Amino acid sequence: MIRTGVVGVGHLGSVHARILAQLEESDLVGVYDIRPERAREVAERWGVQAFPSLEALLEATEAVSVVTPTETHYPVARQVLEAGRHLFLEKPMTPRLDQARRLVQLAREKGVKFQVGHVERFNPAVLAIRDWVQNPRFIESHRLTLFPGRGTDVDVVLDLMIHDLDLVLYFVGAQEIEFLDAVGVPVLTDKVDIANARIRFKNGCTVNLTASRVYSAHMRKFRIFQKDTYISLDTRKKEVEVYLLRDGTVLPYFPEVDRNQEPLALELAAFLRAIARDQEPPVTGEDGLRALELAHRILRTIHENLRRYEI
Ligand code: NAD
Repeated sequence: MIRTGVVGVGHLGSVHARILAQLEESDLVGVYDIRPERAREVAERWGVQAFPSLEALLEATEAVSVVTPTETHYPVARQVLEAGRHLFLEKPMTPRLDQARRLVQLAREKGVKFQVGHVERFNPAVLAIRDWVQNPRFIESHRLTLFPGRGTDVDVVLDLMIHDLDLVLYFVGAQEIEFLDAVGVPVLTDKVDIANARIRFKNGCTVNLTASRVYSAHMRKFRIFQKDTYISLDTRKKEVEVYLLRDGTVLPYFPEVDRNQEPLALELAAFLRAIARDQEPPVTGEDGLRALELAHRILRTIHENLRRYEI
């Protein structure tokens, strides 16, 4: 059992605390939040300590989940790594690229495990089709939500599209980008609220991504087209359809999806296993950095287009 703690127990951090209190690989020691009454409330629920400071939590733990607002990820995560603790950091890693690079470097220097919270890799729908994905030619993704109120301290590309960017990089592999164009506009905040990006990789695979927090419902669709195969995922409903061309006939196939699996629990269990077995975590700091670099490239293009057209 690994002694664990959670920093930031708001909306998502309280879920981290629940899972770390329940996982058999974890001994949840306590939580810390800048709102002491919130820390107490969550700590009481799981019979653990509400620490008065981050230092106190770090003293008592071996591995820490950081689930504070993105703007605070860098100083909090740096302190965790400097104390030599294993780090699970929610996505997006940091607002800025230089900060993310420094965290990756620091984790290597300290020899600790560093996992980034790209939870879609653990979505049962993704797990169900993972082995079917081979050499995708075209990927289309839509991630649209009602205006959430939370997460709007960053552009929609860093808040929502980054999930799909990580999945794209995971499925396409180590391919260079040949072409990238992106557009986006602020609608309800002063940040980009709706964005569309088109990316073509050197091997010809083309990706079209749309992310929006200005929508009247929730949609999370990810479609992969490859030779003789069409794979359609709904990562919100955890539904999967595969269509295969065999001897001139299109055959539908519905892989089994284990909807009882909670992606965040699989993700945190994988982090703790990586620590226990001294292995690379399934989503490394470098993976998080790659997705963040692509997100920033998209954002730069969006802002260039906004300036060019004076939108
Ligand atoms: P939230 O505002 O509900 O909670 C953040 C908590 O952190 C609050 O309780 C706040 O008091 C506390 N906090 C702020 N600064 C702190 C500090 N310096 N030290 C300790 N505590 C601090 O936010 P949320 O919606 O839970 O999001 C938190 C993070 O999780 C964000 O980075 C967000 O992008 C990420 N997130 C990821 C997913 C996902 O799908 N993986 C989903 C939602 C949120």
